[in-house]
Amino acid sequence: MRNDFKKFKRIVVKVGTSTLTHGNGQLNLERMERIVRELSDLHNQDKEVLLVSSGAIGTGANRMGLKKVPRTLPEKQALAAIGQGALMHMYEKIFAEYGKTVAQVLLTREDLNERLRYLNATNTFLAILNMNVIPIINENDTVAVDEIKFGDNDMLSTMIAGLVDADLLIILSDVDGLYDQDPRVHKDAQLQSEVYEITDNMEENSANKGIAFSSGGMLTKLKGARVCMTAGIPLVIANSSEINVIRRVIAGEKLGTLFVPREEKMQARKKWIAFGTVPHGKIVVDAGAETALLMKGKSLLASGVVEAKGDFGRGTVVAVISAQGQEIARGMANYSAEEISRIAGKKSADIEKILGEKDYDEVIHRDNLCIKC
Ligand code: GLU
Repeated sequence: MRNDFKKFKRIVVKVGTSTLTHGNGQLNLERMERIVRELSDLHNQDKEVLLVSSGAIGTGANRMGLKKVPRTLPEKQALAAIGQGALMHMYEKIFAEYGKTVAQVLLTREDLNERLRYLNATNTFLAILNMNVIPIINENDTVAVDEIKFGDNDMLSTMIAGLVDADLLIILSDVDGLYDQDPRVHKDAQLQSEVYEITDNMEENSANKGIAFSSGGMLTKLKGARVCMTAGIPLVIANSSEINVIRRVIAGEKLGTLFVPREEKMQARKKWIAFGTVPHGKIVVDAGAETALLMKGKSLLASGVVEAKGDFGRGTVVAVISAQGQEIARGMANYSAEEISRIAGKKSADIEKILGEKDYDEVIHRDNLCIKC
């Protein structure tokens, strides 16, 4: 798989706060310059490059002489506003040295929640790339509050990779990749060069936080990796302190951890259902429906529904929950929560009698269903 990287055209690179700053919170200019130089060189090879960069809050805190990030949301948002400008100024300056033009894109989760806005964002990115410009993306921390937050840039970068249908996502971090056990505790921990499946165990072992100014850690990276693997996009997590790390990863060198995606790329529509939006309700299904969905690739019919939870309308993306309470799929519901409550457990042939009309045979059509995403 790594041998294919050389041919890849559209590459998303994510750098975290720990990469961009020194331990004292000041920008690590040497590191920034190296990354910008590598990205510019990729761009010179006619590759399309997108950079997801953290560091706004950290840079803002540093500008204000703070040693750590304050607790209140408005203060953090103010720091992001201060730091984002400073960060972009630095990127502008360094990219310009290599003759590159950059574009700042700030997003909240809400911007991608509706399918139309998601498509809009895709088109904007494609227009920027067509202009031969390098987009630099961050969460719009200044206006984002909890409900509309991506939360961390690991997740943001995987969403961007999905949004632009990237060939490869590289997350640069202060760790070498994924180890089989915590390398800080176990001296014999082994770096995993390739990962084919993310287990719950891996996530449990990675529940540590990153440095003071960033919100990541290995757990958020694994969550992102899960998304990428399902969406069919290879992801490499590598250490940003390796010399020429981006070039070497793309050359196919066994650096960091490669999360090997499943064979086929997910259709754009399913990708949006899976990752573009937050589910706004739940449909609980019985064991028979669970098997039909997971093993046979069938649509969800009313007969297999136990209940609908939440208050959602037709066309809403909802989570499909097994009788054991596990999320097994996400999909776009053809009927509202109230309608589903009335037809739950009933035959499709009875829908018209119960609702007075029947626009669809399925509660969720299999084309609008994303399994285990
Ligand atoms: N968006 C935040 C910032 O630029 C960082 C989030 C993260 O570290 O993942 O400061």
